[in-house]
Amino acid sequence: MHVLKFGGTSVGSVENITKVIQILEDYKKSQPVICVVSAVGGITDKLLKAGHLAQTKDESYLSEYKTIKDIHLNILSRLIPNVDKAVSDKLNTKLDNLKSLLDGIYLINELSPKTSDKLVSFGELLSSYIITETMKSRGIDVVRKNTQELIITNDNFTKAEVNYQITYKNIQEYFSSTTQGVTILPGFVSKSQQGEITTLGRGGSDFTAALVASALEADTLEIWTDVSGMYTANPKLVKQAYPIKKLSYQEAMELSHFGAKVLYPPTVQPVLDKNIPIVIKNTMEPDADGTYIAHEQTNNLTVRGISNINDISLLTLEGSGMVGIPGFSKRLFEVLANHKINVVFITQASSEHSICFGVNKADANQAKEKINQAFEYEITQHKINPIVIETDLSIVALIGDNMKSHQGISGKMFSTLGKNNINVRAIAQGASEKNISAVISEHDVKKALNTLHEVFFEVKTKQLNVFITGVGNVGERLVEQIKQQKKYLKDNLKINLRVIGLSNSRQMVFDEDGISLKNWKAVLNTGETASLEGFFKTAKALNLRNSIFVDVTANKDVANLYANYLKESIAVVACNKIACSDTFDKYNQLKYLSRKYNAPFLFETNVGAGLPVIDTLNNLIASGDKVTSIQAVLSGSLNFVFNNFNDTTKFHDVVKQAQAEGYTEPDPRIDLSGVDVARKILILARESRTVMELEDITNDSFLTKANLESDSVDDFYKTLIDDEAHFQKLFAQANEKGSKLKYVAEFNEGKAKVGLKEIPQGHPFYNLEGKDNIVMFYTQRYKEQPMIIKGAGAGADVTASGLFADIIRIGND
Ligand code: ADP
Ligand code: ASP
Ligand code: MG
Repeated sequence: MHVLKFGGTSVGSVENITKVIQILEDYKKSQPVICVVSAVGGITDKLLKAGHLAQTKDESYLSEYKTIKDIHLNILSRLIPNVDKAVSDKLNTKLDNLKSLLDGIYLINELSPKTSDKLVSFGELLSSYIITETMKSRGIDVVRKNTQELIITNDNFTKAEVNYQITYKNIQEYFSSTTQGVTILPGFVSKSQQGEITTLGRGGSDFTAALVASALEADTLEIWTDVSGMYTANPKLVKQAYPIKKLSYQEAMELSHFGAKVLYPPTVQPVLDKNIPIVIKNTMEPDADGTYIAHEQTNNLTVRGISNINDISLLTLEGSGMVGIPGFSKRLFEVLANHKINVVFITQASSEHSICFGVNKADANQAKEKINQAFEYEITQHKINPIVIETDLSIVALIGDNMKSHQGISGKMFSTLGKNNINVRAIAQGASEKNISAVISEHDVKKALNTLHEVFFEVKTKQLNVFITGVGNVGERLVEQIKQQKKYLKDNLKINLRVIGLSNSRQMVFDEDGISLKNWKAVLNTGETASLEGFFKTAKALNLRNSIFVDVTANKDVANLYANYLKESIAVVACNKIACSDTFDKYNQLKYLSRKYNAPFLFETNVGAGLPVIDTLNNLIASGDKVTSIQAVLSGSLNFVFNNFNDTTKFHDVVKQAQAEGYTEPDPRIDLSGVDVARKILILARESRTVMELEDITNDSFLTKANLESDSVDDFYKTLIDDEAHFQKLFAQANEKGSKLKYVAEFNEGKAKVGLKEIPQGHPFYNLEGKDNIVMFYTQRYKEQPMIIKGAGAGADVTASGLFADIIRIGND
C-alpha cells in the first residue's frame, strides 16, 4: 500500500494537478494508492485573511472570498472542460457555504479558534473534491473519503491532538473494505470527539498522511512537494543547498522542528513507531531521488543540515534571588505550559543567575505578563528583575546525529559567525547533541545560513562578493580580468568571485546574484544615479558574506568611507592612496577597525602597482624581522620621464607623453612635485611600524618655483616650456659624471626623504628601465644584501592585477 501526500504547490495549478494525476496513475498500476492532498497553494492563508477581514468588519473580505472562489472555479473548468452540471453545482454549493460562514463572521464580528478551523477546512475539502472529480471524469477508479470521519482529536482548535486509538481503528476499518484503486483524502482536517471540525496545525496535511500510513502499516510514506527533498538548508535562502539523500528519523525531526518547513514536525513520530520510511519527492521533478528518511542512517558526515526559525523573541529572567534556590525554572516553565506557550529554546548560565528562553514572537507579550504575575512577590522584593524581551531574532541550528562524537563543531560554527560580524545572542546545545543552535538577529539569517553552509557543506568553494567603485582605466581592466579569470578561480582556487556592485562617477548597479560581466558596461549604463553613500548603504543592506569593497578611484570622499565599510565587516581593497597617507591617526584607526571587525584592509597597489611590496614587507615583519632602511624608486611615472628625457628631447614633451600613456596621476603635478612618492614611502614607513606624517618627509623638489606655483595643469605645462633650460641643466650635470637621474625615496633611522638623485653606474637603480620600480629593504636579516623587489610599477594592467591579487588574498584567507 502506498500513501502519498501532495502539498499546496503540487495541487496549486492545472498543470501541477495534471502531473499529480499522472503520478497516481503510475503508482496504481502496482498497488492501491492513498493520496492525501493539501489545499490549493496559498488558499489556507487567503481563507484566514478573509476571516480576519470579516471579523474586523472590513468588507473587503468579499473580494478575498471572490478570489478564492474564482481560483477554484477556474481550476475546475480548465481541468474538466465540459464539466457535468451536478459537479459544478456541488462545487458552487460548497463555495456558497463558505460565503455564508464568512458572512456570519462579519455579522457577529468574531472569529473564534473553533470557527477558524471550520473556515480553513474548506481549503482541503475543495481541493480534494476537484481532484477526485477530475480523475473520475478521466475514467480513473477513484473515491474521496472525508478524513473528518476518520481522524478524531480533542478540541484544541487550530492544532488539535489526535486520539490515536480511535483514529487508527477508523482508518483500518474504512480501508479494510475499500476496493478503489485510488482514494483521495483531504489533509489537515479532523473532527473532535464531540463532532466539531478541528485541524491538525499549519502544514498538517503531512501529519494526516503519516497517520494513515502508520494505521495501515504502509510500505512507505511519500511526501510530494515543490523541492527535491529535504535540503542541507532552506533552498529559498541558500542557493548552494542541495538535497540530502538519506536522513535518520531523528535528524529529520530536528531539522523540521528547527524550521525545515518541508516536513511538518509531528509527521515523523507515527511512522517512526512502525518503522515506515518517509520519502520526500518533487512533483515537478518526479525522477529526482529526493530524501529517504528511516532508522539509523550510517553516514560519516557530522553536520547534516542547517535550519532556521524566524520570529523568535528572547525572554530573560534574571536576579540574584535565583541563585541556588531550587524550583525557579520549574515554576517558570509551569507558567508557560499552563498558558500553552511553546518554548523553542532554553539556556541557563551555570551561575544560575539568569534563565534565557525563546518563544514565538506572537507569544512573547503574554509570556512576559504571565511570568511577571507569577513572580510578582520576588520582583517587588527585588530578588529578581521583571522579564526583559528582545525581539526580531531567529534561531539558526546545525543538525546531525554524529555531531556528538566530533569535537570542534560548535567552535567552528561560532568562529564562522563571528568572522562575519554576526552577533550571537544565546547558544543552546541539546543534551542529545543532535543540534547546536544560536540565536541571532533576524537581519543576519540569510548571511548566517550561507556562511555556515559554505563552511560545513561547500568546503570546496568560497564565495567572494565584490563591490567595485571607479571603473575608469584601472577599474575597467580589473573587471575584465575578473571576467576572464572567473572560471579559472572557481576550478583551481575554489573561489567563486562575484561582482555584486559596480559604480563609476555617474551610475551604479547592483545584482545580488552577481552582475553578468559579459556586457557589464551596458548594464552599468542602465544603473541608477551614483552616490558614494548609496553605494555603501546597498552593500551594507545586502549583508552578503565575504563582502569586499574595492576602491579604484583617487577620490578623498571615497577614502573617507572605508571606516564605514570596515565597521560592517566589509573588507576594503584600495589602490587609492589617500587613506593610508592621511594623518597617522586615520591610517591607524582603519588598521584597528580592520582587526576589530575581522575585515581585511589591503592596499598593495598603493606602492609599486602590482609588485608585491607591502605583502613582502608584512611577511618580513610577521616573521620577526625588523626594517632598518628602505631605498626605492617608487614612481613609475618619474622613472619614465627621466629615462626618456635627455638633450635631444624636451622635458615638457616627455611629461605630456607620460600622461597620455596613463603613467601619471590625472594631475601630473602630484607625481612631479614628489608628493606621490612621498605618500608611498610614508606608507612603507608606517607599514614598517614607524609613526610618521607626510609633513615629516623631506622633499627637495627638482621643480622650479614657477612650476610649483602654477594654478592649473595647463599653466603647469606652460611653465615647463619656459623652464626647459633648468631641466636641461639637471640632465647635463648628471650626464657629465656618467650618472643617470632617478627620483629616489629613502627611509633611514625613522626618517624619510624624497628627491632627484644622480645615480652612478653600477648602482642597482642605474639600469632601471621604462616605468619600472625598485624597492630595496635592508632589515636585521637582510643586512648587507638587501631584499630587492623590481618590476613594472605603473600602468593600468599591472595595477588592476595588483588589486585582483588583494581580492584573491582575502579569498585564500
Ligand atoms: P507543501 O505545500 O508541499 O507542503 P511547504 O511549503 O510546506 O510545501 O514545504 C516546502 C518548502 O519548505 C520549500 O519550498 C522550501 O521553501 C521550504 N524549506 C525550508 N527548509 C527546507 C529544507 N531544509 N529543505 C527543503 N525545503 C525547505
Ligand atoms: N493547507 C494547510 C496549510 O496551509 C495544511 C497543509 O498544507 O499541510 O497549513
Ligand atoms: Mg507543508
